[in-house]
Amino acid sequence: MTTDLDDVVGSIAAELATWAERGEVATYIPQLAHVDPARFGLAVITAAGTTHLAGDADVAFSIQSVSKVFTLTLALGKVGDALWRRVGREPSGNPFNSIVQLEAEKGIPRNPFINAGAIVVTDTLLAGHAPKEAIGEILRFVRHLADDDEIFIDDAVARSETATGHRNVALANYMRAFGNLDHDPALTLGVYFHQCAIAMSCRQLAAAGRYLALDGRHPTAGGRVVSSERARRINALMLTCGHYDGSGDFAFRVGVPAKSGVGGGILAVAPGKASIAVWSPGLNRVGNSLLGSIALEKLVKATGWSIFGP
Ligand code: GLN
Repeated sequence: MTTDLDDVVGSIAAELATWAERGEVATYIPQLAHVDPARFGLAVITAAGTTHLAGDADVAFSIQSVSKVFTLTLALGKVGDALWRRVGREPSGNPFNSIVQLEAEKGIPRNPFINAGAIVVTDTLLAGHAPKEAIGEILRFVRHLADDDEIFIDDAVARSETATGHRNVALANYMRAFGNLDHDPALTLGVYFHQCAIAMSCRQLAAAGRYLALDGRHPTAGGRVVSSERARRINALMLTCGHYDGSGDFAFRVGVPAKSGVGGGILAVAPGKASIAVWSPGLNRVGNSLLGSIALEKLVKATGWSIFGP
């Protein structure tokens, strides 16, 4: 199996290296516009712990919205199911940064993976903390999950988004007006922009996501990150909401829980089988990695890892 997976991962990377149509790199965060669209990394870590890498699997990139999986996990640990009074669990069918549903739904975002929902989740992590401490807690948690203290926050990306994230400022203020933000929007957004600026390689990201493939257990430290029920529910949200208004198509084509980010990264989970991270900076029309999605489609087809059957 080890050799087979190395072949599968290697041949997907080799095939995609030749693809001309690579999507568009995000430019609305100026610092992300500098990333080379030819980059491609893929990392698979199986439930048994074997690691299979290809391409730029050890190059750090901006994980952006993939961070929302980790902050959701932390927030559920902190406030439990009370979180669901402030954020829903339904796919939005709208772009990640959309404001349209918020008015009709009185400031309660559809789910924790669109920007509005993730900002509320981050707001809960700020309770009782200064923003710096909350940022430190998030970074420490991600390092603990991946068992890797080299993971860092790219301050240039955080500054770049702070300077240009006007839509997120609007979302945060709008939710504050509905009473669904407990802190000054500038403070909550400060934490949110830093969590999005966490830089990780595919290898590190796949390592950090392993608890979701292992029923909530930490793969190396022993013990649990979350209960098996919570792992199952986070995976359900990743499947239904992890790709914004591309979530249905992703489930149709790939069929595993996954969370994308505008940096071009995707963390995918094949429960009981593997944790997978892919990175290709060019995005499709709904803001998900174009080649990343194709790579996962090919990987799942070759391995039979779709949760809906081989
Ligand atoms: N930091 C980005 C934003 O808030 C994250 C969006 C994403 O990755 N889809 O706009």
